[in-house]
Amino acid sequence: MTPLLSPQQIALWQQLTADARHIIITCHRGPDGDAIGSTTALASWIRRHNPAAEVHIIAPNIFPDFLKWIPGAADILIYDKHEAEVRALVEAADLVIMCDHGELSRMWTLGDVVRDHVCPRIMIDHHLNPEPDIAALAISLPNLSSTCEVLLRILLEIRDQTGEPQEEFLTHDEAVSLYTGMMTDTGAFTYASSRPEIFELISILLRCGIDKDKIYRNVFFTYSPNRLKFQGYMLYVKLDVWKKAHASIMTLTNAERRRFGILNGDTEGLVNLPLQILGMKLSIFLREDTEHPCIRVSLRSVDDFPCNEMAAEFFGGGGHKNAAGGEIWGTMDEAVALIKKAVQKYMPFLKD
Ligand code: 5GP
Ligand code: MN
Repeated sequence: MTPLLSPQQIALWQQLTADARHIIITCHRGPDGDAIGSTTALASWIRRHNPAAEVHIIAPNIFPDFLKWIPGAADILIYDKHEAEVRALVEAADLVIMCDHGELSRMWTLGDVVRDHVCPRIMIDHHLNPEPDIAALAISLPNLSSTCEVLLRILLEIRDQTGEPQEEFLTHDEAVSLYTGMMTDTGAFTYASSRPEIFELISILLRCGIDKDKIYRNVFFTYSPNRLKFQGYMLYVKLDVWKKAHASIMTLTNAERRRFGILNGDTEGLVNLPLQILGMKLSIFLREDTEHPCIRVSLRSVDDFPCNEMAAEFFGGGGHKNAAGGEIWGTMDEAVALIKKAVQKYMPFLKD
């Protein structure tokens, strides 16, 4: 595998992670498997390599129940729930490590708290267009599947550099966390996962003793009866297929959430389902935000349709080519109207 880090970057990593005594590890708002997997694996790795350091993982807001089993996830502090405590921890930090986000604004108000506190930062990420000049060490690799893949490769390079024994460079739990993030960010290795290195990395994780089939079930087979029925409702009643555009749209209101008893995380993965339709190129999912008067947009595509460009141009967001998101400040009707405009503009990518 081609090295990701230069010798100078490895030295800087070693220096920053060894010298710090109060380390904060952050992730983006709406944490997903990659965010929770990378932060928990990294926190554990740093605690083993720098036992003098106090390490805290901070998430801007809550994460879905189907990620709570991840080793170390129970210790994650939620800024929304413990604002004062988190603020004090950030202000005491002598190192902040941003995982799975390349912009401070992806943490919303927590991003301002971190921005205002002067201390070295490390960025470990795989999103396009990282914010410049916010990290002493910025490791941003948009071609890799996940932040967990970036992190695993960093830890392997450090192992090779320091001559750490093969079997000690990762614990079983760290391997579980890293596999979870790689798996969730690739739809269980069904997209963004055709590079052979990914499978070399998986084999390394398997040698750490992970049970990949159990991890799959822990994440994906966790539906409540309500959730499965809700999914049926969304597909049967709410899915609108725009045949000529090879696109589809589903919308979800907060009233519908209440009707089906939908919990945080219950909508996860729904946006991927319409891509199972033959010829479908773009799936759009609009949902009323539960906390703010805006509509969250999720886009998923196959092949060359640039979801990230559409999200940036129309919905103030971004992401990856085949998976992106953003938001629309307005009513659901206004959001649908804007989506139609966006689809028109991108029609050259969609029609036959
Ligand atoms: P989701 O549809 O699951 O919310 O988001 C899919 C992907 O789009 C995420 O992995 C993330 O990279 C990106 N994304 C979602 N929302 C935003 C946003 O508001 N801004 C940016 N820059 N990226 C987003
Ligand atoms: Mn990610």
